[in-house]
Parts: sequence; structure tokens; C-alpha cells
Amino acid sequence: MTRTGRAAVYDAPNLPFVIRRYPVRDARPDEMLVRITMSTICRSDIHSYQGHRPNPAPGILGHEIVGVIDQLGANILHDMRADTLAVGDRVTWTMFFHQGSSYYRDVHDMPQKSPGLRKYGHDLVADDPHFLGGFADYCYILPGTGILKLPDEISDEEAVPLNCGVATMIAITEAADIDLGDTVVVQGLGLLGLYGCAIAKARGARRVIGLDAVANRVALARRFGADVTFDVSAMSGDDLVAAVRAECPPDGADVGIEVCGFADAVPAGIAMLRIGGRYVTGGLVNPGSTLTLDGNDILRRWITIKGVHNYHPRHLVQALDFVIGNRARFPFAEMVESKFSLDQIDEAFARAADRSVLRAAIVP
Ligand SMILES: [Zn+2]
Repeated sequence: MTRTGRAAVYDAPNLPFVIRRYPVRDARPDEMLVRITMSTICRSDIHSYQGHRPNPAPGILGHEIVGVIDQLGANILHDMRADTLAVGDRVTWTMFFHQGSSYYRDVHDMPQKSPGLRKYGHDLVADDPHFLGGFADYCYILPGTGILKLPDEISDEEAVPLNCGVATMIAITEAADIDLGDTVVVQGLGLLGLYGCAIAKARGARRVIGLDAVANRVALARRFGADVTFDVSAMSGDDLVAAVRAECPPDGADVGIEVCGFADAVPAGIAMLRIGGRYVTGGLVNPGSTLTLDGNDILRRWITIKGVHNYHPRHLVQALDFVIGNRARFPFAEMVESKFSLDQIDEAFARAADRSVLRAAIVP
């Protein structure tokens, strides 16, 4: 008898999910079949669900996934770090995969920008192998994915954001070149920003300043390493810039990080920097995020501005090591504070969309 598994299928934007069953075939020699133990709803899943960005439908959303190896293809011997893999091991993996050579991978060491790159949670469920997203019983791991074995000590709650939020934030803070003693401003204290505060501290920042308009996130940021926080909803733009600069003597912050998704926040963030300051944007994922900046100000103040999108597979390895090394210092497990079964996925999406939960998890 053919084995089957359940999937919460996304048929079209804003429609209820439908639980359907699909056949589970044997993993091919270069593939792995994972039985999902937890997946979380990312802001980008909500954007897809609400129709703000195109996503193949009917399909399975979700890319922040952990699970246990159910079948291991004969050609997969070890993970990215050369740890041997076996059926029953718990794993995470890069949220994207790419096969073959590419100019960006081979010449510029940017595999994450290879043309033809595919991401989990972005395929038609009708196509083989059906299971390529998070909100289901199973997920196939296809060739070109960076696989990472999880040590027993890390919980599913701590591990599930590694392959999206944590690895992305490792890439963003690396691009920001945070040095010992730096003052770092983080604009936006969602999951990315909270990890941003904690990673900035772990990279040696002396002072981290967190900004958000959601009061409970501002409070939470203190527990994730922010030394100073401001509720931006209560302040004018000019007052906010002046207040942040007053916290960064003598002339402003060394580093600014944008993970709030609002283009209007960028000029203010750059105004908070000292001469020679670095600014990295990681949240402007929507087209049309138009900026108005005075180029003369950028020039005279020696400001560096960088964009970061996706991450290198090495950032996933570093993300795991960061969480393992700092799990006693920061309450990572609390980020995933509500859990839902696959049947409750509509409620989970509603709660995640209205931001009444930080990260909603689906436990199939
Ligand atoms: Zn994500």
C-alpha cells in the first residue's frame, strides 16, 4: 500500500487552507525525506497568503522547518559540517537550493543569488515530490540544499527559526561589520530584530539600541540584548533621531540595521550614524521600497549602505553555533510561544497576521 501524508494546501490568497493527502514515494539517491516535527509561520508566508506576493498555488507554504530523517538517499553521507547523517537524526537545512554551476556561486561566492535558485514553500503541490513546504507531515530535501544535523541539546523551538531569521541576521550583521565596542541601532524588533540585538551583542557591540512601534516587542528586546529601546509610535521622526544620537556619544551610532520593512525608516536610520557609519537594509523585501536620500550627506559623512538578501550556507552553520553558544544568555525558545496542529493552521495564520503572536508554530 502506498504511504501518504497530509499537507495544508494553499489554494489561493485569503482562502482557508485545505488538508489533503498525497503519496509519499521513496527518496532518490540524492534526496532525503524528512518527517516534519515543527514549522513556523514567517512574515513572508503571511505576505504570500494575503496575496501581496505571487506564490504558486495550490501549494504548501512554509520554509522554517525542522524534522527527523525518515529516508536518506544513498548518496547523502554527511551534513555541511561533515557530521555523518542517519535515519532518525534531527536536521535543519538551507531554505533554498540550487543545482549546477553559476557565475555568482563560482566567481563571487554568492550561491544564494544563483539564477534558478528555488526555495522551499514555493512549489506546486501537484508536482512530484508533492512535499516541498513546511505545513505538512513530510518534506523532501532536494539536491543542492545545505543540510545541518541538530544536536540533541537544542529544542525544536530554538532550532526552527535557524534557517530563515537567524541565518539571515547572521548575514546582515556580518555585512554590517560589527566590531568590538560598536554602538548598533536595530530598526524593527520582530523576530529578525530580536535576533539582531542578540547577535550584535555576541559580536561584541558595547551598546545596542532597539526601535519598534509595538510596545511588547520593545520590552522583549531588553531580554534579547538591547541596552536602550524606544517606542517609535510615541515620537516624531526628528525627536527619535535626536534621542538615539544622544545615546551614542559623541557623534552617533557606528552601525544601523533596518529590519522593519519600511523605506521611510532608512533616512532616519542613516541620520543616526556617525561619520564613517555603516548601514545595512535587510527588511525592504517588497518592490517599490523607494528611498529619498541626500547623496551629498552620504558622501560628506562617508556613509556605507549595503543590502542583504538571502544568506550563504555558512551563515546557517554560524546561526546554529550562535544559538548553541548563547541559549543560556537569551530566551530563544520563548520566540515560538504558541503552537497549533496542522488542522488549526487557519487560526495560526490569523494570529500571526495580526501580530498577536511573535512566531506561531505548526506541529503536525
Ligand atoms: Zn522565513
